[in-house]
Amino acid sequence: MQSNEETPNVWPYLLDLRFPSLHLSTAEVSRMKPPLVPLATLIGRELRNEKVEKPFVKFGQAALAKKGEDYFLVKSDCQRIPGNPATSFSVFAIFDGHNGISAAIFVKENLLGNILNAIPQRISREEWLQALPRALVAGFVKTDIEFQQRGETSGTTVTFVVIDGWTVTVASVGDSRCILDDTQGGVVSLLTVDHRLEENVEERERVTASGGEVGRLNVFGGNEVGPLRCWPGGLCLSRSIGDTDVGEFIVPIPHVKQVKLSNAGGRLIIASDGIWDALSSDMAAKSCRGLPADLAAKLVVKEALRSRGLKDDTTCLVVDIIPSDQPVLPPTPRKKQNALSSFLFGKISQNSTNKTTNKLSAVGVVEELFEEGSAMLAERLGKDFPMSANSGIFKCAVCQIDQPPAEGITANSGPFFSPASKPWEGPFLCNKCRKKKDAMEGKRPSRPTVAT
Ligand SMILES: [Zn+2]
Repeated sequence: MQSNEETPNVWPYLLDLRFPSLHLSTAEVSRMKPPLVPLATLIGRELRNEKVEKPFVKFGQAALAKKGEDYFLVKSDCQRIPGNPATSFSVFAIFDGHNGISAAIFVKENLLGNILNAIPQRISREEWLQALPRALVAGFVKTDIEFQQRGETSGTTVTFVVIDGWTVTVASVGDSRCILDDTQGGVVSLLTVDHRLEENVEERERVTASGGEVGRLNVFGGNEVGPLRCWPGGLCLSRSIGDTDVGEFIVPIPHVKQVKLSNAGGRLIIASDGIWDALSSDMAAKSCRGLPADLAAKLVVKEALRSRGLKDDTTCLVVDIIPSDQPVLPPTPRKKQNALSSFLFGKISQNSTNKTTNKLSAVGVVEELFEEGSAMLAERLGKDFPMSANSGIFKCAVCQIDQPPAEGITANSGPFFSPASKPWEGPFLCNKCRKKKDAMEGKRPSRPTVAT
């Protein structure tokens, strides 16, 4: 098989033509360009890695509808390299819609494609996992822009889980939640952050700083009622996809967390707030330990219903990641160990955003690979400078659309183009995505304001 690593590098010439003031050495340029690995080499590597045993992924789902605005996605047959089963991964997601169902449906249908589109082709598994957090951010923002262009007003939370081997990557906006019950230590951890204005001080501050007003509903006599909301719009969430009629500081940029489970595996419980308003993370995990995933999901929904009644849509996915030589989850850990970990690491309270209770790595069972929740797009997309693989044309880091060079220069007046201008150190963004970025930071609206 002929290697394409010897292909002459046309990059420097293109750069010199377009930006005569830039003097980059060939070495500098090749550092900026992702290395291309021939497909055959990749498949060979994947086949060799196949021997490293992959866990089984088993899942169950249960739901009770009140308003019919919860949707979920299960795709257990995705492949990083199409046609190569050794590169399989699975996706589980919950979308809790509000003010209608169109956002939840649109996101269910389009988000996965947009995420995968933002991951470079022909990279190794390691590189793919490393590229995933950034691709999740790009996919969420792209899907939000696309939905808002439709002019519909609904919105949705998203809790999106990618499982590749023992590595679990979770991206979320809103107040649906994903917890991990580590079956070995009996420690329950939150893999998401609640983007509810009521619970999240940091998000309240961000929204206020970007020009939103946070307050409660006023009723007769000036009495304040209900949860904290953001105005204009009156949404209780600080992040979501959709919501064209609220302020643009309600952003679609997800909190992303990536962990690697030990070979003992673990259980994920992904559910909409109908569950979490009734049960703490601990209660949900404990209510179904030792049961197979399908029964476990039903039991969690039943338990939530028992304690609170059917007040909201209630959807629950239970996903077991288990060693392939072990057909069922190991039994509940010994009491002593349980009590010890509770003592050492504290219980995770229902609305906790306290990071100290959420330190998985301290337990020594689950390895924390990545966590980032900033709402600033520049911080989430990194600082390198991607280009379309073959054309030498700039590619927008969010929507992945190729841009003609001239347009690129005017769209992005960062230091790469003119050192004197205000710094924007992120990667290349097209005009539309750049506008969206500024709007999310409260700089200017990217669309006409809708009266509320
Ligand atoms: Zn774009």
